[in-house]
This record gives sequence, structure tokens and C-alpha cells, in this order.
Amino acid sequence: MTEENAGTEPGNATDLSNANAAAVTGTGTGEQWLARYKDSLMGVFGAPQRVLVRGAGALVWDADGKEYLDLLGGIAVNALGHAHPFVTSVIASQLATLGHVSNFFTSPTQIALAEKLLELSAAPAGSKVFFANSGTEANEAAFKLARSHGGKARPTILALEGGFHGRTMGALAMTAKTAYREPFEPMPAGVRHLPFNDIDALRAALDDTVAALVIEPIQGEAGVRPLSAEYLQAARELTREHGSLLIMDEVQTGIGRTGNWFASIAAGTTPDAMTLAKGLGGGFPIGAIITFGEGPSQLLSAGQHGTTFGGNPVATAAALATLHVLETQNVLANVNAVSELFATGLAKTSGVTEVRAFGLLIGFDLSDDIAPEVVSAALDAGFIINAPRPNTIRLAPPLNLTVEQAQSFLTALPALITTATAAKLMEKSF
Ligand SMILES: *Cc1c(COP(=O)(O)O)cnc(C)c1O
Repeated sequence: MTEENAGTEPGNATDLSNANAAAVTGTGTGEQWLARYKDSLMGVFGAPQRVLVRGAGALVWDADGKEYLDLLGGIAVNALGHAHPFVTSVIASQLATLGHVSNFFTSPTQIALAEKLLELSAAPAGSKVFFANSGTEANEAAFKLARSHGGKARPTILALEGGFHGRTMGALAMTAKTAYREPFEPMPAGVRHLPFNDIDALRAALDDTVAALVIEPIQGEAGVRPLSAEYLQAARELTREHGSLLIMDEVQTGIGRTGNWFASIAAGTTPDAMTLAKGLGGGFPIGAIITFGEGPSQLLSAGQHGTTFGGNPVATAAALATLHVLETQNVLANVNAVSELFATGLAKTSGVTEVRAFGLLIGFDLSDDIAPEVVSAALDAGFIINAPRPNTIRLAPPLNLTVEQAQSFLTALPALITTATAAKLMEKSF
């Protein structure tokens, strides 16, 4: 397959994103598709950068046939890259066998996945799992868990500045960024935001009226900012002291992303509850909350929470397949090896001032506010990356990214920074 026709060559006739299914989707160039997007999709995401039609491993192709190395992985979602053969075959055969049952019933994949998550998180006896479809839904369950724990005596939920927990109302209330929250006030009551990584502020805020402290071990959306090991330990001790729940949002950091199954547990902090989503289904939508031990696991009783799609046979099969590949193919060792290459290479790159590499969740700062320009230069050069802040680039590539693929970006980066610097100067002079 040549580069020119890679994106449009007829392939699997049942793939609706493929040009071969033109009878259903129509065909078009990137430009034509984006015009149709603008006329038909709500503008909440701004203008999409490209129209992607196909992927294989860490590579994706757009509607015009251009190839990209995907170093963002759908924002830490495509844990095994695109169209992983084992994951896709498990999904297809599960869907062809049993696709959906209501929660009046269960299925073997749902049960096996719950057991697997409890095993991987070394959860103590009595621990339990609830499945949802996304990160924000997992955090909604966490919010209700906190309310159930606290009742009227514990009206407060603590969260951190810089934190991101999702876009539905409960998760949004716990998300600090005012621009996301203000248009939709009033928020669900009781959430207070504390300064990041500040143990004294935490100690001052925690008392017996606090239902829960909700934190990310590493803040992804804020530019990959880690809480210190001391903070995590203090969070565990202080919440225990006051009978408050410690809820860890590992939606972005969980499932091998940081080179460990779960960042908080690897740091020696077992929370009372942990939320998961992004990488869990290897690209298929699924979320989960794990409650650790009897107490937190008994808080929500029959009828108090639910979901139609959560924990369905296909999503749980996708997650089981993903976990199976991560476990049996030694992928976490690859995460650590490729992470080290990135960390060393980025630190040596001129114009990079700080590197924060946690497995394959990597943030690096640039000496100027040119991150959006670097993202755009990277796209032109065939790399997908992301700028969570004006001077910060985030990488969250597939966990099976190869050393050679990582090296190709490191080799290209100096020129991307030069191009971005020039573009920024042009912007300024107009
Ligand atoms: C992405 C993210 C969420 C929200 O997940 P959605 O699936 O987009 O709802 C919540 N918490 C963290 C830490 C995230 O990175």
C-alpha cells in the first residue's frame, strides 16, 4: 500500500469509516469532511485538526492519505494502538455471540473483568467493582459513594486545583478550572478545591465533616504534574485519621500508563476507591470504580446506582483482551524502556526546559509559549501530540510504541521547535 492511497484504499467493507463503505458515509477529502462537520456537529470541541479514517498500531491515516505517528493515543486511550488484532477479534466475536444484556442479567466477561481488576490492584477481601462507560461516569459513582459515606454529617468533598475529573455535573463540580464550571453553575454543593501538593493546606482542610478527598496521582490535563510521594502518604494518613474516603482518579494514569498497573498503588498508597477508564478498554469505551475493602464496597446498595450500558459483554471483553495482551506481552516493561528513551532524549533537546516522564505519560515544558505551534508543526510532519498548556507538550502514546518510533519523534523535534518559533514570531508581527 502506498502512502498516497493508504487512507482511502478499499479494505474491510464493513468498516463505516472506510471509503469502501461510501454508500453509507459518502466520501470526501479532509477539507470536504471538515466543512460537513462544521455544518452538523456541535462546536464544543472547536475545529478538529484532521479527519482520521484508519489506524494500525501507533500509526493513523487521514482522509487525504497522510500518515501520522500517534503519540497521543486518543489521549491515553489506545493502550495497544489502533486496531489491535487480538483486541478487535475478541470484540468482534463477543459482539457476534452476545452484545448486550440488561443489568437484570450478568455475563462471564463482566465477572471475569471485575475479578481481574481486583487481582491487579491487590484489593483486599470484600473489595468490589462497578462498571460505567467513561471516566466522568466512574467519577459520578465516586461522588455518590462520597455522599453515601458522609450523609448530612459530612457535606464536604475536597479536590485539588489543577484537577480534571470530567464534564458531567458531579465530576465537573470536582474539577477546578473555573472556565469549565462557571457557565453551568450552580454546581452540586459541597466541593472545595485545595492548592496542589500542599500538605499543610490538606491538614488544615480535613476534619470530620469531610466525606472524601478526590485526587489524581498525576494531573494529566494540567500538563502531567505529579503529587509527591509525601503528599500521597499524607493524604492516606489524614483521610484515615478523620474517617474520610480517599478516592483516587486513575482514569488517565491507570492500566499500565505510568509503567505500573496503577500509579497510586505503585507509590504505596491504596485508596478507598479508584476510578478507571481511558486505557482500560484499549480504545473501546468503558469506565470502572474499584472500592477497596468491605466498608467502601457496601456504601451503595441495591437500587442506589445504575447504568444501561455499563459493564456490557462487549466492553468488558475488550478490557479483558487489552489486559491479557498487556500482561502476557510484557508491555509494562516496554513502557519503562521507551519512557527512559523519551526522558533522556527530551532532556537533551534544545528549547526543552523540563521533562516529567511517568512511563508513557510524559509532559515537557518549552522555553517559550509555543506549544500550540509545535503541535501544528508536528501534525504537518506526521506526528500527533498535544498541548495541555501554552508551554507544555503532552505525550500519551500506545504502550506498545517501539523504541524506533519514539526515536523518530526525538529526531524530528528540534526542527519542529524551530518551525514553531518562527510561526510564533510571524503571529506576533501581524
Ligand atoms: C479524561 C479524564 C476524565 C474524564 O473521562 P471521560 O471518559 O472523558 O469522561 C476524568 N478524570 C481524569 C483524570 C481524566 O484524565
